[in-house]
Amino acid sequence: MPPEIFTLWIGLTGLFVGSFLNVAIYRYPLENVTVSNPKRSRCPQCKHGLSWYENVPLFSWMIQLGRCRHCKGTIPWRYPFVEALTCALWLLAFHVAGGMQGWALGAIYCLVLSALVVATFVDFDCLEIPDSVSIGGMLVGPILSFLVPELHVHSWLAYQFGDEVLSAAGNPELTRFGALVASLAGAGAGWGILFAISWLGARAFGKDAMGFGDVKLLGAGGAFVGPGGALLVLMLASVFASVAGVLNMLRFFILVRGRARRRGVPKSIGKALFVARILGRYLPFGPYLAVGIGIVLLYWNDVLGLLLRGTH
Ligand SMILES: [Zn+2]
Repeated sequence: MPPEIFTLWIGLTGLFVGSFLNVAIYRYPLENVTVSNPKRSRCPQCKHGLSWYENVPLFSWMIQLGRCRHCKGTIPWRYPFVEALTCALWLLAFHVAGGMQGWALGAIYCLVLSALVVATFVDFDCLEIPDSVSIGGMLVGPILSFLVPELHVHSWLAYQFGDEVLSAAGNPELTRFGALVASLAGAGAGWGILFAISWLGARAFGKDAMGFGDVKLLGAGGAFVGPGGALLVLMLASVFASVAGVLNMLRFFILVRGRARRRGVPKSIGKALFVARILGRYLPFGPYLAVGIGIVLLYWNDVLGLLLRGTH
């Protein structure tokens, strides 16, 4: 297969998978429905069943200008966004994995990134991370690591079980068993670190600082990026979440001040800040963990290089 056709095929598959992920995200909190039942997608507003040409990823939304053909209700931009995002992630995954030659690694990257997309948007919607992603990842991660040890090419631990003569000669060997150990250690480390933080947080502040879903999600991530990777994920996620938290507070601060001014009763800066802090408090952590896992999965070495250069 020529590389261009392969890339086109990956991109199109990514689009359709993205459309499927939308269904999974949308239906997650609903009762009496599953991803496969009912088969047909419906307009979220008028419940009219979509025909195939109203359900073409990205293009239907663009042609219909973001509106349902029947009730003219707006279809949230999140649907085409998730489709475009999944498509882009799939292309990136195979690019990093080395195209057709690295198909097995690329396929695992795609699987993980797709699951992270679901976890991210479900967490935004429901403040909850599906167990099928977190526990599923912890179970599948070690198996896939054994099958495709290249997943742990950046993990020091994965090289500790190879041929001793080779290692002594300065050519440490990446082995299936090593990758399996790195995966299990990564799941344990990811789970353990966040569990310890949430336990300490609960002791110190008397409230749950961290959802248990986050603990399981970092466990799942660790199963794919190893123990060092899990630490790196936590660092990145903390930075992203802090930035997002500040921006979120700023957004509520501007909102509160603006509303008060329109009403003609200007609030003091201190009071507006106080309200913004309360309104902006409930930010899920899962999406930032998910972004961190995605980055470390694809760009372990680059991130580490950046950090090391920063400390010199
Ligand atoms: Zn409709």
